Amino acid sequence: MRSPSVFPPWLRSEISARLGFPHPESAMAQAYDPNNIFAKILRGEAPCLKVYEDETALAFMDIMPRGDGHVVVVPKVAARNILDIAPADLARFMPAVQKVALAAKKGLNAEGVKIEQYNESASGQTVYHLHFHVLPRWADVALKPPGGPIVSADVLAPIAEKIRAAIAEG
Ligand code: AMP
Repeated sequence: MRSPSVFPPWLRSEISARLGFPHPESAMAQAYDPNNIFAKILRGEAPCLKVYEDETALAFMDIMPRGDGHVVVVPKVAARNILDIAPADLARFMPAVQKVALAAKKGLNAEGVKIEQYNESASGQTVYHLHFHVLPRWADVALKPPGGPIVSADVLAPIAEKIRAAIAEG
């Protein structure tokens, strides 16, 4: 068996970029698929109900919400999950997650906010572009399980508007 790489995936990517050819160990890493649904949303090729955008991030309503105000926040850089994003890109992006969490809590009068993030299928990841789930929480309301049903934009739009308004208020 091959011994584990000393290079994490993000560092292999950076080495590849600087060398101009793939790092020898890059085939071991799971590849980023630019046709995933979040990449299409980022390119404007698929619709979303946007709640926030800046130069590092896009946040939009989850179409299969596990509770009221379930938002996903995605970085604009192409990263499969937290295992392959460059630390500097992650650091630039994370304030957007905090901004959306604060706004979701305030805008929906939530008692708390849960942040979830999955890496690879064994952990529950189904969309292979890094994303953070922002889940407003109320102590006496249970979260629904992942995986549906799909909720219409008509139902999600007024919730998105409350979160947008809270972001605008600062
Ligand atoms: P994960 O299991 O962490 O990969 O979560 C992927 C999330 O993306 C799930 O909560 C899905 O409901 C959500 N999702 C999938 N397709 C879309 C879409 N087109 N717009 C918004 N959310 C989506």
